Amino acid sequence: MRRQLKRLLSQLLSVGIANLGASGIKTGLCYPFFYCHSCPYAVAGCPLGTIEHAFYKGKISIPLFLYPVLIIIAIASIFGRAICGWLCPIGLLQRATSRFSRKNKLSKRISEKVPQTVKNKLRYVKYINLILLVIITPHLIGFMFTDICPVGFLVGTIPISILNYGEFVPNTFFPIAAVIFALFIILIFVSERGWCRYFCPLGALMAPLNKISLIHVSVDKDKCIHCNKCVEVCPMGIDVPNMHRSPECILCGKCIEVCPKKIISYKVGR
Ligand code: SF4
Ligand code: SF4
Ligand code: SF4
Repeated sequence: MRRQLKRLLSQLLSVGIANLGASGIKTGLCYPFFYCHSCPYAVAGCPLGTIEHAFYKGKISIPLFLYPVLIIIAIASIFGRAICGWLCPIGLLQRATSRFSRKNKLSKRISEKVPQTVKNKLRYVKYINLILLVIITPHLIGFMFTDICPVGFLVGTIPISILNYGEFVPNTFFPIAAVIFALFIILIFVSERGWCRYFCPLGALMAPLNKISLIHVSVDKDKCIHCNKCVEVCPMGIDVPNMHRSPECILCGKCIEVCPKKIISYKVGR
């Protein structure tokens, strides 16, 4: 079976498992990917929401912090950011919208106008989001990320408001969350995997582990003919021929498939 089809099946299976709550199953566990516990059909909890709880209003709970973090570290130490490429439902959503963002003329124009250095710097925003919104803000003020999270709005607020039509009472953050959600939708339609590249705090938690993961994508640079085919297909906008264990790589394998010299491969070990 072709790799991208396998990846699609894996992502769809993951969405199905994430929503097993529809059949009454509630595990009390934590997802290893980005999905919201406020989804009416959620079978587990959001790892970011769990970290927020661990720091809630100065009452630090080390076990609650370590629980999602160690799950992510354990998986990403072996598979790198394959969670993003093969499992995360929000990755699947952006896989769908990338068909539009790749062809859209406006997004091409925006992409050409923004210098590469700016794009590279923007990628650090996700680390700021992780530290500021998921750890420091809950510690000092209370929940913030959970209240404004566009993923929570998509899979939690929207279905809940539909299922409880007429009874749904929005909280005070609702207008801000709605604006952020609208920006999120625009972003993923104009920038391929824009949320993953620039803003996702969970991606930020996994990204450094690409540097040490057992499995990673490797390029035999000496044999490269600089055709750039790998760069053209990479959903994360990576300079593939020059990458070495890029923190941005989601191990999707698209570059492996298009390289005419067959010099890109999954590698196990160093
Ligand atoms: S970066 Fe975040 S949203 Fe994107 S695939 Fe990874 S966990 Fe999911
Ligand atoms: S470098 Fe290759 S495997 Fe990694 S994200 Fe880009 S296309 Fe996918
Ligand atoms: S597709 Fe292969 S040969 Fe072409 S630039 Fe990428 S690594 Fe080099």
